[in-house]
Amino acid sequence: MKIKFICLLVLISFLLSGCIKQSAPTAKTEATAETTTQKSTATTRLIPSTTERATVKKWEKEIVSPVAEKNYLNFENSSREREYDPEIVMVHFISAVVLSENDPYNEGLIRGIFEQDDIGINYIIDREGNVECYLPENRAAWHAGSGTYMNNEKYTNEMNKYSIGIEMMAIGSKADMAQYMTGAEYDALNDEFYGFTDAQYKSLKTLLADICGRYSIPMDRKHIIGHEEYSENKTDPGELFEWNRLGLE
Ligand SMILES: [Zn+2]
Repeated sequence: MKIKFICLLVLISFLLSGCIKQSAPTAKTEATAETTTQKSTATTRLIPSTTERATVKKWEKEIVSPVAEKNYLNFENSSREREYDPEIVMVHFISAVVLSENDPYNEGLIRGIFEQDDIGINYIIDREGNVECYLPENRAAWHAGSGTYMNNEKYTNEMNKYSIGIEMMAIGSKADMAQYMTGAEYDALNDEFYGFTDAQYKSLKTLLADICGRYSIPMDRKHIIGHEEYSENKTDPGELFEWNRLGLE
């Protein structure tokens, strides 16, 4: 009886030690692997190196600046899935002045322009400084069109892939607007419609700081550019846009 009891104890202790030997290292290995994966993903997302920026990657999550309200366009008609981390932020102006000279900042009309022309933008800032996200940052919006920048071949006619686009609801100078309206039409507009508002500059500055911070984009004029610096036939954001209001130039 006593021998049987001892044998049973030995058997139990043998089985237990076997379990512990087998299970403990496995659990530890899994935990380490998981921590390493999480850490490397987080590091890549927050501080992309130059090499990583040039790498095609899968953007799964919809990313929207916390300063913006969501008001999405149809993804398929205005953008494609983003492949690279953004390196450039491009500033534009837009209005519906050609459709309505008395109500050029009507959001429905402006949205209609995007929908009709199959163009896109990541953010739009209205006259009161409200920021709306028309396309999340994981979508490469069709906003830049064809052009060149800094003699960098990868940007030639491909700027949408490498940039985030921001529209300011605004009407530029008479020269900026010459391709859209006559001088007389321009002069007849309500004075309040010209140029950019204080609220817009303030919101743009906040939005830029957020975007540039998240992708490690330097806050300078090499990386924050106007559409006119990329496309020869564009005049936005134009002569009335004051870059120094953003602390740039
Ligand atoms: Zn533009």
